[in-house]
Amino acid sequence: MKKITAFITALGLTTGLFGAPPAMVAPSVCPEPASCEISPTEYCPLETVRIGCPDRSAGQWATSHLEEWYGAYAPAVKVSSLKKSGLGPEDYELTVSEKGVEINAGTLQGVRYALYSLRQIAIPKRGTVKVEGWIVPKSVIKDSPALAFRGIHICWFHETEAWEVERLVRMAAYYKMNYAVIESWGSFRSDIAPWYGWPDGTMTKQEVARIKAIADDLGITLIPQINVFGHATMSRDGAGKHAALDINPEYQPLFEPSAGWNWCLSNPEARKLLTALIGEQLEAFGNPPFFHIGGDEAEAPSCPDCIGIPYSELFLNHIKAMNEAVRANGARTMMWHDMLLQRGDPRWNGFYANGTPETAAGFLDFPRDIIICDWFYGGAKEEYPTLEYFKSLGFKTLTCPWLDRGGIRAQGLSARGGKADGILGTLWHHYFGEDLVNIYLTLANSAWNAGAENHAGRHQFLSHLRQVGWDMQVKDPRHTGIYYDELPPEPVLNN
Ligand SMILES: [Zn+2]
Repeated sequence: MKKITAFITALGLTTGLFGAPPAMVAPSVCPEPASCEISPTEYCPLETVRIGCPDRSAGQWATSHLEEWYGAYAPAVKVSSLKKSGLGPEDYELTVSEKGVEINAGTLQGVRYALYSLRQIAIPKRGTVKVEGWIVPKSVIKDSPALAFRGIHICWFHETEAWEVERLVRMAAYYKMNYAVIESWGSFRSDIAPWYGWPDGTMTKQEVARIKAIADDLGITLIPQINVFGHATMSRDGAGKHAALDINPEYQPLFEPSAGWNWCLSNPEARKLLTALIGEQLEAFGNPPFFHIGGDEAEAPSCPDCIGIPYSELFLNHIKAMNEAVRANGARTMMWHDMLLQRGDPRWNGFYANGTPETAAGFLDFPRDIIICDWFYGGAKEEYPTLEYFKSLGFKTLTCPWLDRGGIRAQGLSARGGKADGILGTLWHHYFGEDLVNIYLTLANSAWNAGAENHAGRHQFLSHLRQVGWDMQVKDPRHTGIYYDELPPEPVLNN
């Protein structure tokens, strides 16, 4: 804020709210850069982009995407080797002056991020009917992420269409997030077990490969998820569905008798199948470095075989086997945290603990390469004792907020302060409307520059969503904006 104000003062302008002259919306970048000076009034033609980067692929990437964004009016790209050293792998410097646009970055990823910032502040030349060129405000941006792991968890439900997931992934990349967990809720079409999921699921291997290629190009890594403990229904409890058993009752022995909510952890066939499904999804996602095994909100065992084995042993051995299945594919396991904490333990008052004494005890012997995804959906807290607990036991930990903007900000700050190793925001079924706007704006800012005020608001988000729609060459009116239709559908279900 101070820097923006000082810059405008140097330009001899009267400053108003947000450092801009009164009654104007100042250009802004989401997430808020680490250091950012953007003139609200002095613009330069966007005609050349000079890139200093040792990665020669950065020039090709810049050329093709600037042509995608600006068509016949794309600026010329000139690439040279890096001029400045000391830039981290995701850092960049962006300068806009009368001499043109200059970018310095150590990697292609840094160049991508510089160009995402540039795209957010460039506007069409004024005074014509149709676009006849582009202008960009004089700027000096020096940027670097606060957190190395900046993720979003996206649900691919039965009714979700591939374009929706693509748009969410594209937006996450545009907002400089670098991981997206994609959880299939019965929508993945397995060749190994075609019955495990809805017969008309839209998450085909072809669509996964297509979206993965887009994600790779845009600089975001996709991480698949299968629930290997509870949530074996592949549906939210509130929906009351079971994506396998509702249509294929013959597979009941793989699941616990109590609504099939859990996998049967003592059935060797369940473990064998899950091992194969993990390998299949990792392969479909191009063998990424992480795999999420879910693990939240499970019930205690209910079948006679499972009850005959000490629960802590049953739980520990199952998670170890799942971790081995993930490792065998060269990836690391991620897991939700709540079954690892005993419900009623006063240390976790006000936080989420769904475990029993047995699961909490079994957890103490977990392999330390498992990454704990600690979800907390409430408002801002001063302390996060659960994060500290997992860290004290030697686990890498991600803090996982949801809707609450104060909570997202506080959890981002907590991670920035070293209490977690990154942030994994969740959307669940709220990927429409104002919740979509708020989660993306707040999560991106909290992941990249936790604690900073984000000057971009909902109209900036809507502009960015529209740009992503242009990249997707959207033609269907229902695929634009934050709702399918002008009149919102029934209010979104709560939980
Ligand atoms: Zn069982």
